[in-house]
Amino acid sequence: MNKIHEDSKVTEELITKLNSLHAKERMQIPVQEMPMQDPVERRSNIKEVALGFSEKQAIIEANRCLQCKNAPCVKACPVNIKIPDFIKKITEQKYSEAVDVIKETNVLPAICGRVCPQETQCQSGCVVGKSLKDINKAVGIGRLERFVADYDRKREQEKNNKVNLNEVSTSSKTTKKVAVIGSGPASIVVAADVRKAGHEVTVFEAFHRLGGVLLYGIPEFRLPKEIVEYEIENLRKLGVKFQTNFVFGKTRTLKALMEKDGFDAVFIGIGAGLPNFLNIPGENYVGVFSANEYLTRANLMKGYNQEQAHTPMYNAKKIAILGGGNVAMDAARTAVRLGAEEVYLIYRRSMDEMPARAEEVEHAIEEGVIFKTLCNAKQIIGNDDQCVTGIECLKYELGEEDNSGRRRPVAIKNSEFTLDIDSVIIAIGNSSNPLIKQTTPELELNERGNILVKENQETSVKNVFAGGDIVRGAATVILAMGEGRKAAAAINKALK
Ligand SMILES: Cc1cc2nc3c(=O)[nH]c(=O)nc-3n(C[C@H](O)[C@H](O)[C@H](O)COP(=O)(O)OP(=O)(O)OC[C@H]3O[C@@H](n4cnc5c(N)ncnc54)[C@H](O)[C@@H]3O)c2cc1C
Ligand code: SF4
Repeated sequence: MNKIHEDSKVTEELITKLNSLHAKERMQIPVQEMPMQDPVERRSNIKEVALGFSEKQAIIEANRCLQCKNAPCVKACPVNIKIPDFIKKITEQKYSEAVDVIKETNVLPAICGRVCPQETQCQSGCVVGKSLKDINKAVGIGRLERFVADYDRKREQEKNNKVNLNEVSTSSKTTKKVAVIGSGPASIVVAADVRKAGHEVTVFEAFHRLGGVLLYGIPEFRLPKEIVEYEIENLRKLGVKFQTNFVFGKTRTLKALMEKDGFDAVFIGIGAGLPNFLNIPGENYVGVFSANEYLTRANLMKGYNQEQAHTPMYNAKKIAILGGGNVAMDAARTAVRLGAEEVYLIYRRSMDEMPARAEEVEHAIEEGVIFKTLCNAKQIIGNDDQCVTGIECLKYELGEEDNSGRRRPVAIKNSEFTLDIDSVIIAIGNSSNPLIKQTTPELELNERGNILVKENQETSVKNVFAGGDIVRGAATVILAMGEGRKAAAAINKALK
């Protein structure tokens, strides 16, 4: 039997008792609460907020699962992880086997266990949550996924043999070369799956560090960078090569990669990195940032640690964040940690329509972020030096439903009010970078600049595939990974 926490007191008696429970009794098992860092303490550190289940908690939570035959949770998972099967392994304390089940369809469980919106995916379909008429009482699938993934990573790190280069046996090596552009989750999956089929893989990344949004967007307090680096290291051990500071289209074109450098196939996973702006007066004042720039400075360049920082952070004490998604929450909570005294989150609709994960909203409130809902910025106010000094907002009310199914925000006339602030962070979404249109005209794009692909992720150019946010527009990690997996299968088939 595997034991990981000496103090977690998993006794034979507990296991026997849990094993003997009937479905009705399982539904009575209390939801296991995830231990969290104290809100006051975490305001001044960048460490992970959620601390993970103990072994005992994981076993108890796993026993809440009813092992449903038709498993609606599996259908609601974008990559159809065999959820009851991996949860069953946890009840048997076979954690490595549980990870193996997840990895059949999801190669980054420690990441997905932390950042996937489970409440709108697998957990939304959970029979336990539905029967108890409370989505918060669904089985904690994401938390269990994180538990086993962390267990497995720690065990592998201890053994220090992680993924072995020899896993790609000499006999299965081919002479085919595949270029993977970008190093976000879609590309990580492609690189792993294509390399495992024996092909030579080189990842080309524009930044000086690897991992995409997982590294420079999602903050350390939600996703420790050690986990992303571990996955990149695994690729390296598989024999994947990396070239950073490489801007596809500029450093090298698609044509050059295929015709001169001899790549037999190319995967493009360059994400949706172009920030949207509101186009309101004052948006070019000093102290206005896109959330992308703000988070990249904080994460990638360690802006949260002024002694080690590779970049200066704008010294602001009162910050307004515009937007209501995960990116807005990440920016607001980062601002708190960087020492802002007042952080306002300004959102056009009400709390009910907010697209951010409920958990992130809750954490932001606990950390002191002030929510100004049903209002939006009208203009940013600056002084003679063109530095931000305030923001003028308009109040809104909700009107009829729009195409997204949410009620449309309608401005209330003469409801202007002003907030004194010294920085504004704009987090109202991202679009695709126009670079691809300018440099790679042979690729067919839609009107929003996203690459058009067939069912198997192949683009309009033979043996060139694409996936993730550059195809879907800004979406989620798991959807990017799912497309990566499909693309890798198609590449492996094409190169057979
Ligand atoms: C702040 C933030 C928080 C988020 N939170 C969540 C969350 O909680 N849960 C969730 O599921 N999703 C979240 N997302 C969305 C999620 O991160 C993305 O959907 C996902 O990372 C997309 O993966 P990808 O592989 O398509 O691209 P990315 O992760 O965007 O990676 C693309 C990579 O390509 C590189 N690149 C770009 N152009 C070029 C070029 N010309 N040449 C070479 N390389 C290039 C980029 O530098 C980057 O490294 C969040 C996004 C942001 C920005
Ligand atoms: S729906 Fe819920 S209870 Fe049923 S198998 Fe999935 S996780 Fe378990």
